Formats: sequence, C-alpha cells, structure tokens
Amino acid sequence: MDPIQMVDLKKQYDFIKDEIKDAMQEVLNSTSFINGPLVHEFQEDLESYLDVKHVIPCANGTDALQIALMGLKLKPGDEVITADFTFASTVEVISLLKLKPVLVDVNPKTFNIDPIAIERAINSKTKAIIPVHLFGQSADMEQILALAKKNNLYVVEDNAQAIGADYIFSDGTKAKTGTLGNISATSFFPSKNLGAYGDGGAIITNDDDLAHIIRGIVNHGMYKRYYHDEVGVNSRLDSLQAAVLKVKLKYLDFYNERRKEAAIFYTTLLRDHPKIITPFRKRNCNSHVFHQYTLRILKSNRDLLVDYLNVHKIPCGIYYPVPLHKQKAYRTSKIDSSSFIVSKQLVNEVISLPMHSELTFNQIEYISKTIIRFFDKS
Ligand SMILES: *Cc1c(COP(=O)(O)O)cnc(C)c1O
Repeated sequence: MDPIQMVDLKKQYDFIKDEIKDAMQEVLNSTSFINGPLVHEFQEDLESYLDVKHVIPCANGTDALQIALMGLKLKPGDEVITADFTFASTVEVISLLKLKPVLVDVNPKTFNIDPIAIERAINSKTKAIIPVHLFGQSADMEQILALAKKNNLYVVEDNAQAIGADYIFSDGTKAKTGTLGNISATSFFPSKNLGAYGDGGAIITNDDDLAHIIRGIVNHGMYKRYYHDEVGVNSRLDSLQAAVLKVKLKYLDFYNERRKEAAIFYTTLLRDHPKIITPFRKRNCNSHVFHQYTLRILKSNRDLLVDYLNVHKIPCGIYYPVPLHKQKAYRTSKIDSSSFIVSKQLVNEVISLPMHSELTFNQIEYISKTIIRFFDKS
C-alpha cells in the first residue's frame, strides 16, 4: 500500500502529466504570461461548465470574496451575515472592507450556516449573506434565497470548497453551486477540488452589470486604460495557472465522482460505530463533492484519535479547531450571543480524513479499521 496522503497531488499529476506539459509549453512559447489567451479560454470553459454568464478570474479565493463584496458597493458599518464555523476568509474580507461581520451558528448535520440563525440575525442594517458551501456540500440555498428576497439582501456564495456540486431545488430543478446567489467566489488553491499549481480564484455571476463593475475592480478600477474610475485592486490569474486549470477542468466531474466513491466506502465501514457520526448527505448525493470527509467523534477524545492515526501514518486534519467568534482578530465582531451551541461543539468533535481522487479502497479500509481499533482499545 502506498503511503497515505491527505491530498495526493503527485499521483493526480502523474495521470495528466503530458497534457499539463503541453499546456504549459504553449504558454512558455507564447511568453504571454499575463492575460494570455489561455486565461480567456479557461474562463469560457468554466462559464459553460457552470452554465453561468460571467466568470472573472482573479488571484485567489480570498481576493474573489473581497472583490465580490466590493462590487456590491456596501457602506462602512453595513452588516454581512456569515457562518461561525468555516475558514477565516469570509469574516476577514468583511472586516477589511469596514463592513460589520455578523456570525451565526451552523447546522449540526451539514455543518453549513443555519437559515433559522440567519433569520434571527437580520435587522435593518443587514445588507448581505455569505453562505459557505462547507466541505463540498451546498448550504440550504432555497431557504437562504427566500430570506434574502424577503429582506432585500445580497447573497454572496463562498464556493471555494464545492466547485462542481449541484444544488437541487424542491421542484427538482438543478443548478451548480456558485450560480445561485447574486455573485460567488471560488478558489483554485492546489488542494481544492479544482486546484491549480499555485494560487488562483474566480468571481462568478449571472448579473451583467455586476460583472462589468467587477472586471474594473480586479484591474485597478480601470474601465478604460489608465482612467481609474474607482479604487480597485490588482488581482489576476496568470496564464500558466489558467493552462493547468483548463486541462484539469475536463477532469473535474471525474475527480468529484472518485471523491464520492471514496466517501461512500468510508461511510459503509464507519457508519455503524456508536461513537462516530459519518457525514450527512442530502437525499440527492450530487449535492456533495466531498472537499473534505469529516466525521464527528462523540463522547471521546478526538485529539487522542488524531495522535493514534499519526502513529499509524495516517494524516488527518481538524477543520476547524476554533470557531470564528472566538478568534482573537474577530472577537469583537457583532455576535448572536444566544447561539454558537453547535459550532462550539463541532470544533471539539470534527476530524477530516484523507480525501482525494486517488485514494484507494485498500487505503480507505486501512484508515477505517485503524479508527475502529482505536475505539476498541480506548
Ligand atoms: C480555501 C478557501 C478560501 C480561500 O481561498 P484562497 O484561494 O486560499 O484565498 C475561502 N473560503 C473557503 C471556505 C476556503 O476553503
């Protein structure tokens, strides 16, 4: 059995080596490293894959979130609601723009932002909601979109972990996550489901006016060369990354399918254990692309399990060990104090297992048996 990796980018690369080399060579031959034709080609490919009108590539996922928010022209002090249990990017960009982050609790099954908590946090200053499709599964977008409509709020999806996932509405219609709200942000960080060989990100929207504004913001606020209509940023996807992403986009559905198969196998082996809660999947499994396979470990010492796995050469991750409302930088954020019951519990219970498109059934079996052996011993 090969050594187990949390993400096995080497093996994934080996399968597509020749295509990647050709694509990169094309960029090297052209020496068009910035704004080269491949950036545009990748953008169009992603637009058709997602069935969306506008993809605006940028430098990384955090920039994508910041630029998406800048495009909405919110005013200092406007409130933006987001999840307490996620990566810090969302609350970081809200704070950087002098907006007010309002953190709310999450659902214990899906780990995603809780629409009931959102509703409780909405007031006259609320201007936007940022749901994060955490670990590869869409947030409850139907309820969130209804709340947004009722209260006249923007919805900015953080789709960094769920690219390729479908959201299925109760009437059966289907759309890709990241195309459901007013605008969305995604990341092409190497370990994401669609990862570059460096940094990358994109802003995605069906709104023509917003797309126009965003195209200026990513490029120093220029709509005409050297005429700066507003304060923008410099955030670009370079041509080498676009070349890699154009190749890998063709395999995204295959990669996500492999992740789902791995998840199903893990769940088969682990679901009956009384101390383990395996990931909850909505009825149509298409809505989960398993960026992470995250267990909850009940009434037990999760940290001892981490040590035990490490001794047995099994990497794992704690996403996330501290809820955002307890982070030093964000402690002063306006918080919904009646809440966080779930996020405070999850930080002590969650453990993410190795998950990638090259994981073998043998490896999954070894990991699962080792976990069960830990409980038998303790
Ligand atoms: C990775 C990630 C980001 C940030 O992406 P970068 O490209 O690293 O800036 C934002 N939000 C979530 C939920 C992420 O997982």
